[in-house]
Amino acid sequence: MPVIPVYLQKQAPPTSRPDEAPRATTVPIKHKHHFALPTLRLQLHNLQHEGSTIFLSNIKGNEDISTQVQNVLNGLYTPDSPRPGTRSITFILREYSGLAYTTGIELDRDHKEIHLNIDYFTRLPEPRAEILGVICHELVHCFQWDAEGTCPGGLIEGIADWVRLRAGLAAKHWKQEAGGKWDQGYQHTGYFLDYLERRFGDGTVRRINGGLREGRYDEENLFASCCGGKTVDELWSDYEAALNKDSDADLPTRTGDVVVVPTDTLPKHADT
Ligand SMILES: [Zn+2]
Repeated sequence: MPVIPVYLQKQAPPTSRPDEAPRATTVPIKHKHHFALPTLRLQLHNLQHEGSTIFLSNIKGNEDISTQVQNVLNGLYTPDSPRPGTRSITFILREYSGLAYTTGIELDRDHKEIHLNIDYFTRLPEPRAEILGVICHELVHCFQWDAEGTCPGGLIEGIADWVRLRAGLAAKHWKQEAGGKWDQGYQHTGYFLDYLERRFGDGTVRRINGGLREGRYDEENLFASCCGGKTVDELWSDYEAALNKDSDADLPTRTGDVVVVPTDTLPKHADT
């Protein structure tokens, strides 16, 4: 059965280095509600691979995945808010040229697959935190709204890394920096969303995600309704000014050369 890639990225991220700690403090996601879990499955394509052993010895299937699902659902939803009807998630551990990606099955989008590259696991100095972080990011793609497929990838990826940030799983190579565009995605946009969450209150990112439930992406209305009537460009300018002003945090600001590190990396044609 064919599968449809959800989000395309090509660049492989660098591995984390222990001396590069994330700069921003994180506010943990509260597990206010215990959401029902989808069916969770695992396919191991090469049990003899070192990466399979690293995964199995670092990740507790009956606890860790559930915790990350609760992080995602508590981060993006209340018990009463409508959410996608994801019924199953299959983790597929195999060798390919990328890092991770999430797909839906063509005939039924309620069944998701998260593909993880076991080669990547062998290159990680701190595999547990990094693998959990990648799993958290990919799980967001299993549950977030996307304006019926019209939401820009940068915002989709930013929401995924915002949840990862709030889950306490920021990668050590992440840096909070201004410059560039707000929607360059991943941690770059994720930190911006965290600024909006702090400025406009708990639930701001949840409301942004909720605003992507129906209809085509409408940037002006989306941010005006969730963030005090402002445009996203005004908000981005405010964010840059706040970072520049916050000398105690020693946050670098640059223009035009922001490094955005992606999580999702699809296979090349040769290794699908
Ligand atoms: Zn992603």
